[in-house]
Amino acid sequence: MSKNVLQRMNWPNTTFLVATLLLAVTLVPWYLWTHDLDVFQILMFVFFYFATGMSITLGYHRLFSHLSFKTKSPVRWFTVFMGAGAFEGSVLEWSADHRRHHKHVDTDGDPYDIGKGFFHAHVGWLLFAPTEETPMDNVEDLKKSKLLMFQHRHYVPIAFAMGFGLPTLMGAAWGHFSGAGVGSSALASLLVSGILRVVVVQHFTFFINSLCHMVGKRPYSTDNTARDSAIMALFTYGEGYHNYHHQFQHDYRNAIKPWGYDPTKWAIWALDKVGMASGLRRVSDEKILQAEIREQQKRFDAQLEAKGYSLPDSMLESLHASQDRLSQAMKEWTVKKEQYQLAMEKKIETSRHQIDELKKEAQEASRHVQEMFEEWKNAHFYAQAQMA
Ligand SMILES: [Zn+2]
Ligand SMILES: [Zn+2]
Repeated sequence: MSKNVLQRMNWPNTTFLVATLLLAVTLVPWYLWTHDLDVFQILMFVFFYFATGMSITLGYHRLFSHLSFKTKSPVRWFTVFMGAGAFEGSVLEWSADHRRHHKHVDTDGDPYDIGKGFFHAHVGWLLFAPTEETPMDNVEDLKKSKLLMFQHRHYVPIAFAMGFGLPTLMGAAWGHFSGAGVGSSALASLLVSGILRVVVVQHFTFFINSLCHMVGKRPYSTDNTARDSAIMALFTYGEGYHNYHHQFQHDYRNAIKPWGYDPTKWAIWALDKVGMASGLRRVSDEKILQAEIREQQKRFDAQLEAKGYSLPDSMLESLHASQDRLSQAMKEWTVKKEQYQLAMEKKIETSRHQIDELKKEAQEASRHVQEMFEEWKNAHFYAQAQMA
């Protein structure tokens, strides 16, 4: 006999998600309306918002699920314990689900398949998550870590201690030293940095599975639903550049343009600078540009086909010419970049002056590629306008 809705519900998950949400929209606003928050409480909310949320994006996601960089143990300890306070499961469970999401994106094997709708991808998959253990055959590498196994075995007490216990204790200590009162300060911290913060962090990180597969553009791949959106990045600690992320999942960056908001990337970069992280993985600029060109070409061809339009010879010629110039520029760029890299790695005999020259040439070649790419885009834009 098939189970009814109530029997299929995952009650521990549902109780937690519904209770914290209800408290966050009833008790918390009432408290904020009737009490004043001091600066300490606001700073603590900000701290827990970033510490637990970015332990998910930097730790659970980019470090453990995708191995996009290496770290020293303090970073692993911090993200494992603080990440537990976001109440999104152990690193092992989270990574197992997430690796399946990437491997089977948009199909039944994807735990948060957006094809089943916004609600399912956002939170429905948790409300109806099977109560038996998540299959974890795809995280054998992570199971070798004693720290991750410890967190997995004692997940619930660690999550409550870090997510609710720690802010309450810090609030109580502040109440004692500032004279604001131990009890009232502890309660304010529990409500604001505990409950309200958990709800905000959860739904913001859940957006990565829901809205980041719905809102935005797909410049790097239309093979899946993941999308790039600068607005979503603001709510997801930089994970809104999700189309890029699905195409190049091992890159430690999600925003590759300097103006893209990606605090998770900035934090990894800063950890590298102070010697706490290493081996940051980056996809080469050539590969990224190639993906962009492929997608634009695909869109253009699809439009031509949909309209049953054949371009005049003169326009075809100019499109081919811009294509050739772009390919040539990319070839030159690749050669110059390789020469510069070899010189930097001292694999060829080079003086300081020659290295500077090679660097200049590589930069010049890169600028030339950008120019040719713009020209190529304009040629296509013009052809598209003609078709309209
Ligand atoms: Zn995704
Ligand atoms: Zn991912």
